[in-house]
Amino acid sequence: TFLTMMHWSLKRQSSWVQLAGHQGNFHLSEGGEVLKLYSEGEAACLNLLMKDPLRPFVPQYYGLVTRGEHCYIRLEDLLSGLRRPVIMDCKMGVRTYHEEELIKARSKPVLRNDMYQKIIRVDPSALSAEEHAQKGVTKWRYLHWKDTTSSTSTLGFRIEGIMMEDGNIQRDFRNILTLAQVTEILLFFTRNQLNVIGSSLLFIHDHSNKASVWMIDFGKTVPLPDISDREDGYLLGLTSLIASLMLQE
Ligand code: ATP
Ligand code: MG
Ligand code: MG
Repeated sequence: TFLTMMHWSLKRQSSWVQLAGHQGNFHLSEGGEVLKLYSEGEAACLNLLMKDPLRPFVPQYYGLVTRGEHCYIRLEDLLSGLRRPVIMDCKMGVRTYHEEELIKARSKPVLRNDMYQKIIRVDPSALSAEEHAQKGVTKWRYLHWKDTTSSTSTLGFRIEGIMMEDGNIQRDFRNILTLAQVTEILLFFTRNQLNVIGSSLLFIHDHSNKASVWMIDFGKTVPLPDISDREDGYLLGLTSLIASLMLQE
């Protein structure tokens, strides 16, 4: 099976890696595609993006496919053709939950023990006596906790993961809160090369100096009415990222 795997990865010409999200939501596919578990909202968003001026900056969307019991979204594999790429996923915006999540948490809360465990592993003092007694928190509570203890709520983005060219993956950036700290991580990511520079922005570069930034992950992205300024901090996140990159010079 090792040989088959090698043969397969040579054929695919990709070093597939998933930096964020639920492992198991993605399927590998041949011909420079990745399959992401279907969600109605993301499929609708990708349909709109294929007719939008932003199209060149998102993975191409090829429609739906069924594998086994599940439906998948067929996407361009952004890592296709790259050798030993360096990748970074930045989750954009000042918050990562939808209003519906908050409404649900207030009207009919579902307590999640797994999310309670995730908080307690990092900071037991963040939980109230009631939450300790229930041994569970709502999904909104968990997402809100993550947003407010990372650079999400202050800078409008957070680093979710980085993979270096040796394949080493770092996913714990919880203590990265200030612009100066973010800048330090970005310097590590670009390896001090200044010519390189959720939804997320996916930053990719490899030793051939091929570099790109892609918009990905539209599971929670919805159209807004024409007159609306509710962009949930995406632009603040972009501004912070650019400010941080300028600090490197
Ligand atoms: P989240 O928990 O952030 O909502 P998710 O399940 O919606 O995650 P994504 O954020 O879309 O999943 O993708 C997870 C990871 O998979 C990304 O960090 C990236 O490493 C990889 N990835 C996603 N789409 C592509 C693509 N088109 N090409 C290459 N890699 C991708
Ligand atoms: Mg994501
Ligand atoms: Mg998502």
